[in-house]
Amino acid sequence: MADSLMLNTMRNITILGATGSVGASALDVIARHPQRYRVHAVTAQSSANELADIAVRFSADVAVIADAALEPALRDALRARGGNTTVRAGRRALVEVAQAPECDTVLAAIVGAAGLEPTLAAAEAGKRLLLANKEAIVCAGALLMAAVQRGGGALLPVDSEHNAIHQCLAGVGESERAGARLVLTASGGPFLNRNDLDGVTPDEACAHPQWVMGRKISVDSATLMNKGLEVIEASWLFGVPADRIDIVIHPQSVIHSMVEFADGSVLAQMGTPDMRTPLAYALAWPERVASGSRRLDFANVGALTFEAPDRRRFRCLDYAYKALARGGAASVVLNAANEIAVQAFLEERLRFTEIAPTIERMLEAYDPPPPNNIHDVMHIDREARARASEFVMDKVQ
Ligand code: NAD
Ligand code: MG
Repeated sequence: MADSLMLNTMRNITILGATGSVGASALDVIARHPQRYRVHAVTAQSSANELADIAVRFSADVAVIADAALEPALRDALRARGGNTTVRAGRRALVEVAQAPECDTVLAAIVGAAGLEPTLAAAEAGKRLLLANKEAIVCAGALLMAAVQRGGGALLPVDSEHNAIHQCLAGVGESERAGARLVLTASGGPFLNRNDLDGVTPDEACAHPQWVMGRKISVDSATLMNKGLEVIEASWLFGVPADRIDIVIHPQSVIHSMVEFADGSVLAQMGTPDMRTPLAYALAWPERVASGSRRLDFANVGALTFEAPDRRRFRCLDYAYKALARGGAASVVLNAANEIAVQAFLEERLRFTEIAPTIERMLEAYDPPPPNNIHDVMHIDREARARASEFVMDKVQ
């Protein structure tokens, strides 16, 4: 049965990254509709207790802990809670629950390129893929889009900007899409109006004014690399070239993104900033279900403001556009360098202001041939990480 014809039938869901911020929002929506959604599998990197809580609460069939050393801890945690969920461990198990015949829907909510393999596996297996894991499409856009085509499933963006664009493009034909201009909105992050960023601490960078999110994406929002990654994500998802993708700073985060058509019409999607809205949209599409998010109270919203991003202060935007224009392996290198730099910053081994230069240096220094398959992508990712780690270490000494 084609995915979009599965109306009103029970969906069986695998949640990759169930213990994260997106995972929690998805579980909140799922819990509101027990007659529509059941949880097949849940996964986490290392939080065994939290994963066991979720598995028991949602009567999941399978729980996967990616860090295989924690398999006994997960078993103990489940036993202590009286759960009868099957325990699996390791990276291979992530791929297996993503393509399992027992599920028809997969939420890709692992953070980083670590989510690439199971995300691709879900696409290849024809699942409805709810994509939050933007690093996966940044690293392997061509491969992922081809896998979705071959698998015959549906790809529904969860990232709020892309979800907004998906909503604005509903019913729009291929050629009109390609001719449209996409306008991604950005809150500007916590440092929109702060000039001296040298001594910024991880907690300051993670204090996002509008959204509560995992720490990596919070830092990406503070450097605006998040928006850079989203430009690459949008280009793959909607088949629109970089020169038709704009970014506008919109600090209120009411408009989640817009599409401008050839006739000058601009469509925008709005709502309160709450990931449950795009998650509910992607879960229920083409139907609509309640998400639990607050309604937009226009009388109290006040002014909606817009400004151009300061690309001299937030260099990461240009690096992302450059990587997209260069094509091939450049986005893999960009993403790997960013992941290493952000991790080092969160561990207080690198200054906030050194994140962008680390990425710039890696893009200059490492230019491998274009990847042809997932193994190539993973090889380039590993190599870029090793080089970026060395570069970061040299800075510390
Ligand atoms: P998070 O850090 O809160 O959660 C990450 C999840 O991935 C956790 O369940 C963790 O156990 C798992 N994980 C981490 N490393 C892993 C690894 N190496 N292998 C397997 N599992 C691993 O992150 P988040 O904020 O929920 O973001 C998840 C993804 O969604 C990211 O790609 C992010 O860019 C994207 N996203 C998040 C938001 C948001 O509001 N949080 C919005 C849009 C897009
Ligand atoms: Mg986003």
